Amino acid sequence: MVPQSTESRLFELKELDRKIHRLAAIKATLEWDQETNLPPHGVEERSEQLALLEGMIHDLQTSPQLGPLTLDLSEATIVSDEDRALVRLHRREFERASKLPKDLVERLARLTGVAQPLWAQARRENDFKKFSPSLAQLVDLAREKAELLGYQDHPYDALLDQYEPETTSAEVKAVFDGLQPGLADLARRIAARPQVPNAFLSRSFPRVSQEALARKVATDLGFDWNAGRLDVTTHPFCTTLGPRDVRITTRYDESFFNMAFYGVIHETGHALYEQGIDPRFGTTILGTGTSLGIHESQSRFWENFIGRSRPFIDRYFPSFQKAYPESLGDVDAESFYRGVNLVEPSFVRVEADEVTYSLHIILRFRLEMALLDGSLKSDDVPSAWNALFTELFGITPPSDTLGCLQDVHWAMGGLGYFPTYALGNLYAAQFFDALKKSIPDWSSLVSRGEFAPLLAWLRHNIHRHGRVYTAGELCRQVTGQALDPDFFLDYLNQKFGAIYAL
Ligand code: ZN
Repeated sequence: MVPQSTESRLFELKELDRKIHRLAAIKATLEWDQETNLPPHGVEERSEQLALLEGMIHDLQTSPQLGPLTLDLSEATIVSDEDRALVRLHRREFERASKLPKDLVERLARLTGVAQPLWAQARRENDFKKFSPSLAQLVDLAREKAELLGYQDHPYDALLDQYEPETTSAEVKAVFDGLQPGLADLARRIAARPQVPNAFLSRSFPRVSQEALARKVATDLGFDWNAGRLDVTTHPFCTTLGPRDVRITTRYDESFFNMAFYGVIHETGHALYEQGIDPRFGTTILGTGTSLGIHESQSRFWENFIGRSRPFIDRYFPSFQKAYPESLGDVDAESFYRGVNLVEPSFVRVEADEVTYSLHIILRFRLEMALLDGSLKSDDVPSAWNALFTELFGITPPSDTLGCLQDVHWAMGGLGYFPTYALGNLYAAQFFDALKKSIPDWSSLVSRGEFAPLLAWLRHNIHRHGRVYTAGELCRQVTGQALDPDFFLDYLNQKFGAIYAL
């Protein structure tokens, strides 16, 4: 038998890769449809369709053809970064998929199917005991999964790696340890100052104008409507159905301005990343964001670093006032700016401000680590949650509904996911620092609504690469150093020091 050349192996791998990712895109299309349009009676058959596709994708990912292809391809003989990444990522996926027996995947699917309604009931009735046995089983299964996948120091590494590839729990812990004292200190100093008013954000904001404003701002930031859509769902998200088809969703609250406006900016940030990936990577393993942390850095960048900046409010406040003269007639741009940046310890993560948000994540990360190494038992989660919450925020949750039962992630089997949210804030701050150095007049550009140079910088440095570089590599390339929480702390201290006259 003639040995295959690197070129012919790569060609074969790319063929398979395209097939897998086309199937994945079809599955994503059905899932998007399920969230936006599917009538209730269609749900049952849709689950069957999705399960069928899932099986087909898994078969291709573990096919006898793919293993030897990726395992035998020596990265040293490959010339381009992108082909090396293609092989590295496929080898990774193949090894992961091969290590997890079908039986475990099915048990996990069954368990989360049962756990989610129990979690919803426990949360509704503020009765943690109803969810505790499921959580204990989910932790056991997560540990079993980690053992099968393998890890160096802590079983958490294997779980985190699914969402934040090549980042370890030790690295996250070091970053969070550097972040926590500074965040807690800033939150304490702010709490000692008079609070800024923001009640005007909860006046009347009819939906029609909210949608018009949301579409306008997405357009201004650079969202390509010929390669995307905006629809309505209960839980907002962004999904990519093809290289030139990126869908975002939002929800409207007529008595809260921030919900849709900042929600759409956030999802637009995710979409701009996906729309900015090199078209050559379309429908391949390289054609999406490199990690959830980097993805979240892009949504937070536009939502907070730009969307909640003074020049941005200067630009948009007149159009807010024009759309809502009765609700915002007695407000000025400065008060609006302070209002959307109000900092206050609160029980619910998704409603948290820029300063306290990451503390919510640090709490979850510490509890998840303890659950996985067995030092915390499921039944003790409420008391551990409340004790740590009181230590970090200075307030104690009045119920488990507003405490350890608020998030669906654990019930979905998503242990290891939370850190990516806080990593997003940190990466965003470090990227923002680099962007400001190459675009010193960013602030006047934003105040004129000229976002194209900012987007071009993100496209060139981050978006176009897709998954060619890992999060850590990208961070070093763009900023010259590894992730450092001081960038985020400096940004927060400067911004909120001015708002609260610290
Ligand atoms: Zn997001």
